[in-house]
Amino acid sequence: MPGFETCETWPFECLRCLHVWEEEYVVRHLCDAYGNAGDIWLSSGVPVPPPWSNTCCPACGAYGVTWFPSGHPTRHPEPGHEPEPEQEPEPEQVLAPAPPDRAPAPLPERTHLPARLLVALGVPLALLVGYELYASAVAAVHPHP
Ligand SMILES: [Zn+2]
Repeated sequence: MPGFETCETWPFECLRCLHVWEEEYVVRHLCDAYGNAGDIWLSSGVPVPPPWSNTCCPACGAYGVTWFPSGHPTRHPEPGHEPEPEQEPEPEQVLAPAPPDRAPAPLPERTHLPARLLVALGVPLALLVGYELYASAVAAVHPHP
């Protein structure tokens, strides 16, 4: 069984100097006659250890590196599928709060300001008119001699 090859890109991050880099591997998947599967990792056509073992930082040489399996998004995703879902909800989030902010804002001013003016002008006026009516009523009931 000849097996097959896949290309995998592994992003790495150095835990010491935080250097981030990617390595491309060709993985040759083999399967022997007894059904035992095995992978051979090739980098630039040269067999190399699997990326989770013996990978050292090209910047500082430290062996303490972390990696993200192929296809796993890194913290700074490459342009592709990532920006699209982020951009779509943004207009909705901007548009959604905007109408409620615009709509209620003028309404309280229109309703409250005349109401306050009515209260401010109407209550003393009503009291004055009421007093005048009361005074005239009292004067009508009890005319001056
Ligand atoms: Zn490093």
